[in-house]
Parts: sequence; C-alpha cells; structure tokens
Amino acid sequence: MTDPVKIVLVYQSLLGIYGDQGNSLVLAQRLRWRGLDAEVVRVEPGQPLPPDGAIYLLGGGEDNAQTTAVRELTKDGSLFSAVDAGAVLFAVCAGYQICGQTFTIGETDEVREGLGLLDVTTRRGENRAVGEILTRWTKPDGTESILSGFENHGGYTRLGPDATPLARVERGIGNAGDGTEGAVAGRVIGTYPHGPVLARNPELADHLLELALDRPLEPLDRARSEHDGLRHERIAFTRR
Ligand code: GLN
Repeated sequence: MTDPVKIVLVYQSLLGIYGDQGNSLVLAQRLRWRGLDAEVVRVEPGQPLPPDGAIYLLGGGEDNAQTTAVRELTKDGSLFSAVDAGAVLFAVCAGYQICGQTFTIGETDEVREGLGLLDVTTRRGENRAVGEILTRWTKPDGTESILSGFENHGGYTRLGPDATPLARVERGIGNAGDGTEGAVAGRVIGTYPHGPVLARNPELADHLLELALDRPLEPLDRARSEHDGLRHERIAFTRR
C-alpha cells in the first residue's frame, strides 16, 4: 500500500472566507477518480503543519488575518522546509500576497513582511479589483488554456525577477492591471482567482497533482460534458 497523497489545507479560520478550501476537495477527488488515495489535513494556527505534505493550500482572507498567518507560519517553519524539499504550494489571493516579500494592510497601507517564498510585492492599488477574470495560461506542453475565476482584491502585486507570471489577463485586473496574473517560482504558485479556481479549471488542478507526484496523469473523462458546458457558459458570460 502506498501512503495517501497528503493535501494540507492551511489556516481556514484565517484564510478561509472565500471558499478556497474547495480547492482541496477538487485535488483529493481527482486523485480518487484515478484510484489514488488522498488525505486532506486541515491545520489551524497553533497546530503544527505536517512536514510531509505533497501540496499545501493557502486561501483568501482579510488584511489582519494575513499578518497573523505570516507570524504563525514563520513560527512553525514547516512550510519553508516542505517547499525546500519539493512540496507544491498553491496560494490564492491573500494567501498569494503573503507568500511575497512584502504586502500592505489597512487604510494607512502599513507594510508587512511576507514569507518570501515568491519574488512579488503587493501594495494597495487605485481601484479594488472585483469581478470575473479570464486569463490565458500556457500549459507545460506549450498549449494554451483559459482560466476562469472571480477576483476580489485591493492589493496590486508586482513581480520581481525571480518570479514569472502564471498567466496573461484577457478580462479583469489580475496582478496589477499590467496584463499579468499570478506568479510562479519552482513549485510555488500564487494566483488571484477564487471560484474555487481549481473547480473551475481542472487542468490547473491536474497540473498541481502532476507537479506533486512528479509524473503525468491520465486525463479524466468523468463528468466532462457537464463540466465543459458550465465552463463555456462562464467564459462566454465574462466575454460579453
Ligand atoms: N486583503 C487582500 C486584498 O484585498 C486579500 C483579499 C482576498 O483574499 N480576497 O488585497
């Protein structure tokens, strides 16, 4: 028997207000549909993060929760060692911002240190980005896929030289209205869209699983027509 693939859902009490925990269910279910065992481990502040997760997930949340999450994750330390050892980290919105070098909080734009896992910095933008977002993601095989989601953030994120954008914006704001969305460095991926984004974009979910397992996975046909129908509706709606 092989051990279940461990998916670690980090601090839902702090970074769980946008439904991003659904990303953990999508990853686990897509493993199970392929006959692979999956375990979702939920960890709250004060509890130790398991050091042997295959994928760690951070979600969206409010400014003060971001500061607390950085403090607790820094104290715990396991996320840094897991990423160093090759674990995948997938971070959405507030979770994405705290992975960076610095971000600002509150009306007075106080600067806070991030985890330093992505070479990005976040500052409050002129207009809050709220609404449907469509981006173009170049998959590892070189073909392009549309990613669909819902963005809701006041912070605008700029990439440094050690991070590359995840995708290019077709509709919406993305990182900072500069045409880029999200950031990637090794196996750390940050992105703005909620949705949850992996439910809307199963190809991205499979990409994370393939990174974590270090091997390609067979495509899944299950529920494909229903899923494709919903997906086309959402994309067409956003393009109107
Ligand atoms: N507080 C952050 C911002 O507004 C993140 C918000 C979120 O996670 N949706 O930029």
